[in-house]
Order: sequence, then structure tokens, then C-alpha cells
Amino acid sequence: MKILREGETTTKRRHFRRFAYADNPLQGRSYDCDERGVPYLYSQEAVESYAACIKGEVNGRVIIDRGVSSYELCVNTPAVGRCDECGADVALDRFISSCPCGADYNLLGQRLAPRREAEKDKAKRAHKKQRRVSKTSARKRA
Ligand SMILES: [Zn+2]
Repeated sequence: MKILREGETTTKRRHFRRFAYADNPLQGRSYDCDERGVPYLYSQEAVESYAACIKGEVNGRVIIDRGVSSYELCVNTPAVGRCDECGADVALDRFISSCPCGADYNLLGQRLAPRREAEKDKAKRAHKKQRRVSKTSARKRA
């Protein structure tokens, strides 16, 4: 497989604005926001909830603005390779990545044996193991 794009891990910094209840600081509300604390509000419900927090009272409970906190988010972008069989692009995002044509690849883009062969090998190993167990059992009985 020809690798078209190497996989990479990038980090993104995310921010959220946190509000905690005065009577229980472990409870409260938080909103995704920019680095200045301006929230991203995606629904009317969120707009109303945020407005209540800014007022300092939610459902009769005093709520306190705890400011902006940040965290790092890791984003994995999988490698993409071109299938040796059919030329389709395959994202190498799993232990075994399959092309729609049926070809399987590992995370490095190395072609794996066709599944039928792999299944046959697995069956052979299981059969040998079973024979070993049978012989052991026979010896124990003798
Ligand atoms: Zn293919």
C-alpha cells in the first residue's frame, strides 16, 4: 500500500466558562467558550441558562462565576493509504482496516492475508490444540 498521508496527533486548546452554586461548589454549569470567556451558545435553552448564570441565580439558587478554564484536546488523524488491489483510499484508523474490495491492512498499511486464509489457520491451530488436549486427557485416564 502506498501511504498518501501520514497519521498525526495534534492538540487543540479548548476553553469553558464555569459557574458553581454557592451552596455546593461541586455543582454548577459550564459552557464552551473562547479564550476570553465568550460562550458558544447553540440553542435558546443554552442562551436562557447562560443568562441566568450571569444574573447569579438559577432555579432560586445563588450561582457564582468561576471564570474561564482550559484543557488540551488530542485529535488523532489517521494515515490514509491507497489500496494495492483496487486503488481506493483507505483510512488506517483501526487494528485492521478493510477496503471495500475486501483487502485488509494493519495500522502501518501492510497488507494482511485474506481472511479466508487467516480463518483456515485459526481453525488449524484450534484443531491442533484440541488434539493436544485429547492426548493429555487420554494419558491422565491411563
Ligand atoms: Zn481495495
